[in-house]
Amino acid sequence: MAILPITMFGDKILRKKVNKVEEVDNDRIELIKNMFDTMNNANGIGLAANQVGANKKLFIVDLTKVEDYENSDPMVFINPNIVKRSEDQTVFEEGCLSIPDIRGDVERPEVITIEYQDAELKEQTMDADNLLARVIQHEYDHVLGILFTDLVDDEMKKRFKKPLHRIRKRKIDIDYPISKTIDYQLTL
Ligand code: ZN
Repeated sequence: MAILPITMFGDKILRKKVNKVEEVDNDRIELIKNMFDTMNNANGIGLAANQVGANKKLFIVDLTKVEDYENSDPMVFINPNIVKRSEDQTVFEEGCLSIPDIRGDVERPEVITIEYQDAELKEQTMDADNLLARVIQHEYDHVLGILFTDLVDDEMKKRFKKPLHRIRKRKIDIDYPISKTIDYQLTL
């Protein structure tokens, strides 16, 4: 078990469109395991690879601690691609382990279809709605270098300015390990 530092708003790797995963070797398996440990330690329900400093197009989702999702499985999405989005939109208050103590309303499609590879690199297609669609879209944005704070309305963006600056300067107090510099990156 290894808990990795989580990258923070302002870190360069969070703005990168990350690299495709070509193979799932021991390093990759280790990374995925450590991502689950890191996410659980921080009580998260989703985590993208660049949130632990890995330049890889993959993310994980685990809703098993959420009411009504106890019977779902923890999921790994490798080289994901959202191929369909419903016209119907919903608004939901989002947060992010890389942007602690800030929450904001984000409008997103209600239903999506995502193509991805699982941990064995087998091609999969999934339709998702409700909370699962929400988390998948949030994490998918991460591997494209997009953060939820980019998607809130202008008034909220204004309100976020100061707290985001504090996060960038690490003037925050959180109970999970975080990256020390904006250049933090894992070598993989
Ligand atoms: Zn996030």
